[in-house]
Amino acid sequence: MSKFERICPRCGISESQRPFIDELCVECRLKGLRAKWPSELQFTRCPKCGKIWRERAWKQTAPSLIAAQVQDKMERAGLEGHYNIEAGVWEGVWRTGARDPKTGAEVLVPYTHVVRISYTGNQCTDCERSSGNYHEAIIQLRGDEVRVNSALKRLTRRLERVTFVAKIEPMHGGQDIYVGVKKDVENILRREGYKFERNEKLVGQKEGGRLYRSTFLVRLDKEGAQEDEPEVQVPRRERSKPGRK
Ligand SMILES: [Zn+2]
Ligand SMILES: [Zn+2]
Repeated sequence: MSKFERICPRCGISESQRPFIDELCVECRLKGLRAKWPSELQFTRCPKCGKIWRERAWKQTAPSLIAAQVQDKMERAGLEGHYNIEAGVWEGVWRTGARDPKTGAEVLVPYTHVVRISYTGNQCTDCERSSGNYHEAIIQLRGDEVRVNSALKRLTRRLERVTFVAKIEPMHGGQDIYVGVKKDVENILRREGYKFERNEKLVGQKEGGRLYRSTFLVRLDKEGAQEDEPEVQVPRRERSKPGRK
């Protein structure tokens, strides 16, 4: 029996009630450490099908996948234990490095630590496609109504040869064309003789990388800053025979 008992200066508990590491009780010691431990892990999850974005791909969620991610994160923080996904807590053992005065063995302190799982919503590629919302580009036609409508018809026809038009939406001052795959949009606009301003916006993730959506703003004023029917004049040139000049 020791002659005097240590009292924890933080919580007032005595040595007979709880093990001590140096001058503090183990719980108060842990409190200091906990502040540095991961306490939340955030996932991007598709609100429709529940798939999770992990390692640059959409994956079917399983509790084991989530648990494995937490496990990995905690171990990288140097912690030993197991993640209990039902309880949402990390069940760990703290190796204190201190020795039990009676047995001489290292004092091991079991503890639990809450690790919250949170989600941000972002529709996966498959769900976006199947809901008809999938589009990589928007062509914004603005200006004179007659010219907008004629451009709408012409561009839709051209676009549908190489991709799909997800939807057409009348907007204040014009029309928006939602285009499935954006690869050929710029070429089509050029070939059709339309000037445009192109902008890129990061909208989410797609297998293999980030997904950018492009908008092409086409201004069509009433009287021709742009050629109205350039189709007839432009493409002929290549036909001239070689060697004739
Ligand atoms: Zn204490
Ligand atoms: Zn989905």
